[in-house]
Amino acid sequence: MTNDVYIDGNWQSGEGALFESKCPATGNVIWKGHAAGADQVVRAVQSARKAFQDWSRRPQNDRTKILEAYAVELGNRSEQIALAISQDMGKALWESRGEANAMRGKVGISIQAQVERAGSKMNAADFGSTHLTHRAHGVMAVFGPFNFPGHLPNGHIVPALLAGNTCVFKPSELAPSVAEIMIEAFAAAGLPDGCLNVVHGGREAGAALLDGDISGLLFTGSAQTGTFFHKHYAGRPEVILALEMGGNNPLIIWDPVEIEAAADIAAQSSFLTTGQRCSCARRVILPEGKFGDAVIEAIVERAKGLTIGAYDEEDIFMGPLVSETAAENAVEFQMNLSKAGGKSLRRLKRMDRGGGFVTAGVIDVTDAHYIADEELFGPLMQIVRVKSFDEAIQRANNTRFGLSGGLVSDDDNLWIQAHRDMRVGILNRNRPTAGASGSMPFGGPGLSGNFRPGAYYAADYCAWPQASQVSDTAQRLSAQGFPK
Ligand code: NAD
Repeated sequence: MTNDVYIDGNWQSGEGALFESKCPATGNVIWKGHAAGADQVVRAVQSARKAFQDWSRRPQNDRTKILEAYAVELGNRSEQIALAISQDMGKALWESRGEANAMRGKVGISIQAQVERAGSKMNAADFGSTHLTHRAHGVMAVFGPFNFPGHLPNGHIVPALLAGNTCVFKPSELAPSVAEIMIEAFAAAGLPDGCLNVVHGGREAGAALLDGDISGLLFTGSAQTGTFFHKHYAGRPEVILALEMGGNNPLIIWDPVEIEAAADIAAQSSFLTTGQRCSCARRVILPEGKFGDAVIEAIVERAKGLTIGAYDEEDIFMGPLVSETAAENAVEFQMNLSKAGGKSLRRLKRMDRGGGFVTAGVIDVTDAHYIADEELFGPLMQIVRVKSFDEAIQRANNTRFGLSGGLVSDDDNLWIQAHRDMRVGILNRNRPTAGASGSMPFGGPGLSGNFRPGAYYAADYCAWPQASQVSDTAQRLSAQGFPK
């Protein structure tokens, strides 16, 4: 028996198709197992539904204590978690260690957010009192992406459980390994059986979960999938959807600013995690003229100088893309930009060592006659040159997405303008676009989500408010024209 499907506290073999996850750096098989069959998905949802009866009725403090114990258990397993993430999807170990720490840190932040945003409150009223409480939804389906296969599902699961929901988690089929360690940590922390179930697999398992008797769908992934889910639930307002999707993120660099610092910020914004962060800068917008030329030259130097290697090689900045297919797609995306008139300043190329390895690319698309407003999830920076700051803002906003963006400038007035006019949920000044604070909401308008930001605001979509007017005894009522 393999650890494919976790229902009601027990692992069992999946009844669906066999699949495996290979390390994109070494080609080694890291995880192999069967996807959950449709009946197993139904049973996982039933188990969560049954567990909800007790879990949601427990005092908040009981749930909080179990989540706190989970944080300790995650801490005990942080190196194991980091290794599983790096091997599955290829990111450098230093980054996966950061992800493992973020998973543990998520618990304390969620407890604080739960109290602050979804707690309870009572006020005196002339008839007695008013009460605000928050109630759990029920069974939450959690869909995770491959790029943060631990932190992002954990970022839904922890606040959902804390609020009293139970979950069925479908990990990314590209990075399935970390789920088992999470389950181990939850079991050691004393989470009752059925509160968190796992169904591995790709689209078929995902489709069965979509059709399940769920109360909410907590999703982090691409806009394409999120939009599909949104359509799937059209006309079903009783199911809460929290959709965290991608971006085509702009970074404006405007003088005067220290050129080397600007190039650092731009290169890290675009190439961190091999460009596989939803908040990576895809489009860097600069003024025409010498200042812009100098920054671009410095960016290209950085793209050339990045140390690329397998997750456990010394001093690497970035690993491979998640798969060979992702590497092929990145090359093709770049080719289409070139065909449309983009000028490569540094080519994104597949590396001799195979797998998902690619070099970082920079392409000037200022004169391209058509640029698809798509998110390329890889290390390719598009450069856009403009005549004025107003034009820079206009170009920045010329996208269907709205996740992250940034301004690199020492000029306070430009920041005031950017802050007012850039339509993105995460807007940084003189900081990389990639990288977020857990104590802030995360999400943005347009195709980047459905206005249910995650991170600190996840508490909001994990519970619904119940408002009560309370009088301890029934009193006679009077009103104009009402019989006495
Ligand atoms: P994806 O959309 O391909 O997959 C996400 C999950 O949905 C996976 O579990 C996958 O199996 C499932 N899925 C995909 N298609 C499905 C279908 N038709 N039916 C049922 N299930 C389906 O995303 P990905 O490639 O794993 O992750 C990268 C994407 O996630 C990027 O677009 C990135 O911007 C986005 N992302 C967003 C955030 C955010 O917080 N906004 C964070 C990280 C990643």
